[in-house]
Amino acid sequence: MDNPIRGRRTARVQRRAAGTAFRNLMRALRMIWTATRTWTLVWGVLLLLQGLLPAANVYLTKVLVDALTAAVGAGIAWESVRTVLLPAVLMGGVLLLTQIIQEVLGWVRTGQAEYMQDYIKERIHAQAAVVDLEFFETPEYFDQMERANQEANPRIRSLLENVGSLFRNTTTLLAIAALLIPYGIWVPLALLLSTLPAFAVVVWYNRHHHTWWKDTTEKRRWVGYFDAVLTLPYYAAEVRIFTLNAVFQQAYGSLREELRDGRLRLMRKRSLAALVAGSLALLVSGGAMAWMMWGALQGRATLGDIALFYQAFNQGQGLMRTLLGNIGQLYGDLLFLEHLFHFLDLRPKLQQTENPVSVPEDLRVGIEIEDVSFRYPGSDQLALKDFSLSIPAGKTIAIVGPNGAGKSTLIKLLCRFYDPVAGRVTLDGVDYRDLDRDELWRRLTILFQIHVNYAGPVRGSIEIGDIEADHTPERLAEAARLGMADELIEKMPHGFDTILHKQFTGGIDLSGGEWQRLALARAFYRPAPIVILDEPTSYMDSWTETRWLDRFFECVRDRTAIIVTHRFSTAIRADLIYVMNEGKVVESGSHEELLALNGFYASSWRAQMQASDDTLM
Ligand code: ADP
Repeated sequence: MDNPIRGRRTARVQRRAAGTAFRNLMRALRMIWTATRTWTLVWGVLLLLQGLLPAANVYLTKVLVDALTAAVGAGIAWESVRTVLLPAVLMGGVLLLTQIIQEVLGWVRTGQAEYMQDYIKERIHAQAAVVDLEFFETPEYFDQMERANQEANPRIRSLLENVGSLFRNTTTLLAIAALLIPYGIWVPLALLLSTLPAFAVVVWYNRHHHTWWKDTTEKRRWVGYFDAVLTLPYYAAEVRIFTLNAVFQQAYGSLREELRDGRLRLMRKRSLAALVAGSLALLVSGGAMAWMMWGALQGRATLGDIALFYQAFNQGQGLMRTLLGNIGQLYGDLLFLEHLFHFLDLRPKLQQTENPVSVPEDLRVGIEIEDVSFRYPGSDQLALKDFSLSIPAGKTIAIVGPNGAGKSTLIKLLCRFYDPVAGRVTLDGVDYRDLDRDELWRRLTILFQIHVNYAGPVRGSIEIGDIEADHTPERLAEAARLGMADELIEKMPHGFDTILHKQFTGGIDLSGGEWQRLALARAFYRPAPIVILDEPTSYMDSWTETRWLDRFFECVRDRTAIIVTHRFSTAIRADLIYVMNEGKVVESGSHEELLALNGFYASSWRAQMQASDDTLM
């Protein structure tokens, strides 16, 4: 027997789920109304008409059959022809109208779905720009994004279909029930009861399908990843050299098998249950018809009554099943839309303060990192530990250190993508948390280690570094020069108008180093007072690096610059070098001071010098 406590809890959970589904339905309907008001109005009117027409048809059938019964054997008299002709013509009109409405509805439904789709995408895109960067670094992001993004469109389409169908079928059913009531109140009731098992099957299936779908999100992501490795150009070269095709195909195949089997198992159960439920409904339907025939034999019903009864019962039962099916599917849609709403409701943790302090156009003192500790959300390791560092205004500082020392983490804090868990970061003495964050972002320009390779014309790829600026050819050329991209662009087939990315007509692809130069040019396009460069010379040969450094120091003469680098040749020219290791600053000073210190920096420098001496010997 069921545990009574569990039973009560299950009932409570189900009530809560139904409440959530209802709230989601209301929210979805509000969205539809906001996004497609006129379309929805037209849709509603057409559905109402479409809902009434079948009942009119059922009624006209009865009139026609009764008229025919009376006319049989009466000879060809105009009077009897007229009584038959009128309902026949009306029935033809109803059928024609049904056809017209159906076609117009197809168009209206597409319009509504298209607008709705764009509206939802707009909301998702806007929200994607608002959530914390942290969100993009978690596996939950991929789950939520996939659920919200991939399922939103088909589910909205399905929701529209189901809401529409629900409305239309309810209208028809109410009209048909009204026609059946004169034969006894139990007739519409029998209709309802006989279709309940089918409804239970649909609800059961939707709930289980949703749980299965949710539990397999990550597996489906793996499938997507394997598919990408096997088919996308990015992976193609390595897949060939390392002969990875068979391995990835096997991984893809076995996961697909698991997913396919799960889905088919669910469908098999559903089909079986639906068969039982359908047979039950048929039984009730047959019983009701037998009862009516019996009535006719006893002279209690006309042939028209039997025709009406048969049609009404037959259609009514089909309708009930569709209707309940609609409710079940609607429930399924709402379960899925829950993920979309959840994503849209995410609020960033890094909020602006009520009255943010404006960020000055030019730094006067500089940026101070004071006893900062930081750990990534979900991680129990500190990435920065009691970390302190000064970035004086107008100076260029270099950050050096081994992999995993915390250099990129420091950059993320400098951009205020995260707040420290202890300590503070200040700009001209003001805590980062009190600053206007959007303004802070506008005062920064940055080259990320993993930068974005935008598609479209070269010009656009640079100009988006300062999207609101007055774009002049001089500014563009200067940014290209500072990023060492000028010679590269000159050699391109259409200079600044050359299209990037081969997937677009006439587009070209660049090497890693060439992409980096464009990203550098983009960073320099923005005349921001704070310049942050993460490994700007990683792709440059030493000749180019020397030329670039000259240009760079000329450019940042009056600015505050932070360069993360593995190259001593770059670090040497900075005003101040910070050496990081294991989330701490372990040494700082000029190149000479650090060599004199004979510590971590000096040992690395000597090792590199030794290596080049050995190579030259
Ligand atoms: P560096 O840039 O010096 O190579 P990072 O700042 O990237 O080092 O990393 C510092 C430490 O933080 C490393 O131990 C790294 O594993 C960890 N880390 C970096 N990014 C994340 C992240 N998104 N989530 C959790 N830990 C991270």
